[in-house]
Formats: sequence, C-alpha cells, structure tokens
Amino acid sequence: MPYRGHIAREQRKKNPLISKAAGYAADTAHFFIEDADHPYVQEKPFDWIRGYQVGGKSLTWGRACQRWSDFEFSAPQRYGYAVDWPIRYDDVAPWYSHVERFIGVCGIKEGIESMPDGEFLPGYELNCVEQHIKDVLWKKFKRHYVSGRWAHITQPQEIHTQQGRGQCQNRNLCMRGRPYGGYFSSVTSTLPWAQKTGNLTVAPIRWCILLSTTKKKVALRAYA
Ligand SMILES: Cc1cc2nc3c(=O)[nH]c(=O)nc-3n(C[C@H](O)[C@H](O)[C@H](O)COP(=O)(O)OP(=O)(O)OC[C@H]3O[C@@H](n4cnc5c(N)ncnc54)[C@H](O)[C@@H]3O)c2cc1C
Repeated sequence: MPYRGHIAREQRKKNPLISKAAGYAADTAHFFIEDADHPYVQEKPFDWIRGYQVGGKSLTWGRACQRWSDFEFSAPQRYGYAVDWPIRYDDVAPWYSHVERFIGVCGIKEGIESMPDGEFLPGYELNCVEQHIKDVLWKKFKRHYVSGRWAHITQPQEIHTQQGRGQCQNRNLCMRGRPYGGYFSSVTSTLPWAQKTGNLTVAPIRWCILLSTTKKKVALRAYA
C-alpha cells in the first residue's frame, strides 16, 4: 500500500460516492463497489453504499450494536409522522438478547432508559481522559457519555467457540479480515453455522437492475 492505507487522490476522484463510506481505504476498497460499475439516479442526495461479496456489508460494517428503545419505537406516534410501529421495545427485547448472545456484543451496562442494556460481554473501559469527559458532561449538562457497544468477542463463550471464533485481539485491523473471528461477520459466524446444517447454498451471482428513467425501460444485466 504505497500511501500507508490511504486512497490515492485519483481513486477518490473516480469514486466520489462510495469513497465517502466509513472504512473505505486502500486495504478495504475491494469490499466496496466502484461508482462507475453501479450508477444510480439521485433525485435527492442519497449515498448508496454497497459491497457485492459473500458476507455482504458484514465485512465492512462498523460493528456498533445499539438497541433501539421505546423512545424510537414510539417516536412516529408521539411526533405524528410516518406510520406507527406495530411493535414496541418489549416485543423485540428477547430477540435482541438472542442475537447478542450468538454474535457476541461487548458493552457496559449503564441503566439508561433511552439506550437499553443488552446481554453484554465485558465492555471496553473508558480511559482516564474519557472518564473525565464523562464526569464533566454529566456534572455540567446531565448528558451521558458511554463506552460503545460492539460486536466484538471480549470473552468467548461456548456458543462462540462452537462457531470456531476466538477472542478479539484489539489489533484495530478488523477491516482487513478476521482470522480470529473476534468480531461478528456473516463469514465467520452465521454462514458457517448455516453450512453446518447441510442446507446452505451460496449463490455469489450479482444481478444489477438498471432502470432508465428517461426511456422508461428496465434492463436486466447479470454479472457472474
Ligand atoms: C461502512 C459501513 C459501516 C456500517 N456500520 C454499521 C454499524 O456500526 N452498526 C450497524 O448496525 N450497521 C452498520 N452498517 C450497516 C450494516 O452493515 C448493514 O445494514 C447490513 O450489513 C446489511 O445486511 P444485509 O444482509 O441486509 O445486506 P448486505 O450485507 O448488503 O448483504 C446482501 C448480500 O446479497 C448479495 N446479493 C445482492 N444481490 C444478489 C443476487 N442477485 N444474488 C446473490 N447475492 C446477491 C450481496 O453481494 C451481499 O453479499 C454499516 C454499513 C457500512 C457499509
């Protein structure tokens, strides 16, 4: 990587949309599409971030795992916009737990109603500067400052070793792959788990539907 992982100006110029994605860098660009291959019409600004590989965007995601609270589920009703959710936090809470246990989410329980706690593996403690910010924010503004909740295995449980995954090594190289399976991606976790059933078929074929708005014509192209 001639620019120590940074993207060359030329490549950024050729990919003004996709290069906006967090984590888009010289060592990860192959997990993202090229703008020229996948054009789309933007009537309003809309950044469509895509990666067409087995594992999808679970290879490029930031791994932040925050539960919604009842504040989110009831927001349309409270503020009178869009359509009310047919479910509330209590309906999905057990499923959040189910997923968190399986994929492994670390975090610190804070007891804050607007960001419910989950089934956390040990979380990343704040360093002394962060702790200071936390204290000051609370003292002056009554605002919370918390450690993020991440799909990183900080203490592998039986369910994780069964998936063939190990402890996160804190190497800060997640975007290059995951030889230890320390963070959740479908390649390390759910796909091998599905494969074990013998019922999984992976079809890594890319279909691109191109809708021409001027000619009102739909063209279907297939890439193998
Ligand atoms: C940079 C980045 C950071 C993110 N950070 C976070 C985060 O911190 N927390 C969070 O919760 N979410 C985050 N997300 C969002 C999250 O990654 C996605 O919402 C999630 O991965 C979407 O999963 P999916 O299975 O719906 O779609 P995808 O992961 O896009 O999977 C779709 C798959 O289908 C394949 N496919 C498409 N068409 C066909 C076809 N015709 N035949 C066969 N296969 C096909 C694609 O190749 C792809 O593998 C982030 C996303 C990005 C890009």
